[in-house]
Amino acid sequence: MAIATKLNKLRPLVLNRDRHVCQMCGAFREDRDPYTGHKVQLKVGYVVPPQHGGHTELGNLRTLCCACDEGFRRIPYLPRPNLSDLLKALKQSKDSDLKVLESLLCAKLTISR
Ligand SMILES: [Zn+2]
Repeated sequence: MAIATKLNKLRPLVLNRDRHVCQMCGAFREDRDPYTGHKVQLKVGYVVPPQHGGHTELGNLRTLCCACDEGFRRIPYLPRPNLSDLLKALKQSKDSDLKVLESLLCAKLTISR
């Protein structure tokens, strides 16, 4: 099946799954765009773009407002580092960096409780 056809079939499923809310900024379809004053237009975009190996499937698609979609397209795609790369970087970190990381993690854990 062509990518465009598959994307068209998945679009309503993604929008419903995400409850018509932009997954980057939280804008809802009924909200007004602060820049244009028009109703927010929602699109379905890729988490990992096809040119970087992403597939046209539910798990790789998300709802985005036009502003976030445009912003996402303008920045170069950076893949997430894998766990072993993160652990390697942690082992090479200075004590002062680790203390900052620890305080950030503690703050995050306190907020999510
Ligand atoms: Zn947005």
